[in-house]
Amino acid sequence: MAMKVRIFDTTLRDGEQTPGVALTPEQKLAIAQKLDTLGVDAIEAGFPIVSDGEMKAIKSIAAANIRAEICGLARTEKKDIDAAISAGLKYVHTFIATSDIHLKYKLKITREQALAKAIEAVQYAKSLGLQVEFSAEDATRTDRDFLKKIFKAVSEVGADRIDIPDTVGYSTPEYLAAITKDTIEATHLPVSVHCHNDFGLAVANTISAIQAGAQCAHVTINGIGERAGNASLEELVMSLQCLQFDTKYETNIDTKLLYETSRYISKIVGVQVQPNKAIVGENAFGHESGIHTHGVLSNPLTYEPISPELVGRTRWFQVGKHAGAHGVAAMLEEYGIQPTKEQTYQILGRVKKLGDQGKHVTDVELLAIAGEVMQQQGLRRLVHLTGFSVSTGIGNMPYAFVKLNIEGKDFISTDYGVGPVDASINAIQKITGEIAKVRIKDYRLDSISGGSEALCEVTIKVEDAYGNQASAKSIGEDIVITSVQAMIDGINRIMLKNILKQKNLGH
Ligand code: MN
Repeated sequence: MAMKVRIFDTTLRDGEQTPGVALTPEQKLAIAQKLDTLGVDAIEAGFPIVSDGEMKAIKSIAAANIRAEICGLARTEKKDIDAAISAGLKYVHTFIATSDIHLKYKLKITREQALAKAIEAVQYAKSLGLQVEFSAEDATRTDRDFLKKIFKAVSEVGADRIDIPDTVGYSTPEYLAAITKDTIEATHLPVSVHCHNDFGLAVANTISAIQAGAQCAHVTINGIGERAGNASLEELVMSLQCLQFDTKYETNIDTKLLYETSRYISKIVGVQVQPNKAIVGENAFGHESGIHTHGVLSNPLTYEPISPELVGRTRWFQVGKHAGAHGVAAMLEEYGIQPTKEQTYQILGRVKKLGDQGKHVTDVELLAIAGEVMQQQGLRRLVHLTGFSVSTGIGNMPYAFVKLNIEGKDFISTDYGVGPVDASINAIQKITGEIAKVRIKDYRLDSISGGSEALCEVTIKVEDAYGNQASAKSIGEDIVITSVQAMIDGINRIMLKNILKQKNLGH
């Protein structure tokens, strides 16, 4: 029988404590709704006492039609617990530090005083009818006997849940398992763990506690949180579902929404996900090396532990100095191009040469190389830029006019932007967004040489609604025109890819 692990998401509380992150009440509500759709069991919506905006945000989340339980943080202070009540909460997460370091230098109280405050706060919260989860902050650096004593004491006055926070990510998996067992034995209550990633062990420590009997994990999307962050929701959930354990674990998370949720949170909080991040990083399902590409094309299981679709993603290939003939042929096939074996090796040779010069080879460049080697004059272009102008200056918002011809039909659009490039791209997207739902995923501008007549290089990655991606690069003297050309090139590739795919599927 599978054991259900409860997912307590603290993206809106610990995640918001990421340096540089602050959310508006509207953003917090939108995130809570997104988390609810993802399937988390509990949402820590914030810390009601900290500000008026925070109070407003938590109130709106508590009042929204959300299936997950909504929780708020409170110190073991009456005023904090009262604030949770004012916010409309029925569930409070109250905490006090218990390690000697925190007691001596931060709270300046004794262990006995901390114990008394914990008991008093839990009694008070229970008297108000709240569900109470109690945390002993810095639990993993707390004297082991004292930790047991304080957990036992709060369980005796009615705490509903106990949380073990590894506040500075200091625990090992073995130690966290040991104190989890202590806690269950002392309290007989459901136990949560709250792990930080200071040594990169947050998920490993969380799993270890779950194996020792913890029923709930505090996590954040993308692992955001103070310092090195918290245990990441997506890594934990996929580990529990896919790795080999003696016990079978499951969660209520809809894993197909993980990538989308990760992108959404990253954008709204302004914290980029590192490319090599597990599950949700840009490269997590990307392949460049020839050996790997060949393997994945024969059977994805060779170099992918799980299928990308399981987490709402698609795999991608890229060519470069490690490329092989199979990968090059497969990428060209996606555009309906079938070089002979000899031509494939010629194309590969040119790709490797560019790779050796330290160049990243985009889809558009690969197609250009293939066109030359196969002596095909230009590939089919669906979109042509037939008119373009942009105005910019001081006192007026940059404004662009774009005329496109798409498969013989003319389209005109205008739009504003924060700068001339943004205005142009917005205007293009107004047209292509409707027809092909293409959007920019990545935009990079590099200067190639110095001086005001310097050449610039624009590299972009575009994505359509089906997850197809294409990269393009353009070089020129004018930043705006070069950007627009790269965008049009990328859109052409992605639309072509999509048309061919539909054809192959018999649409
Ligand atoms: Mn924390």
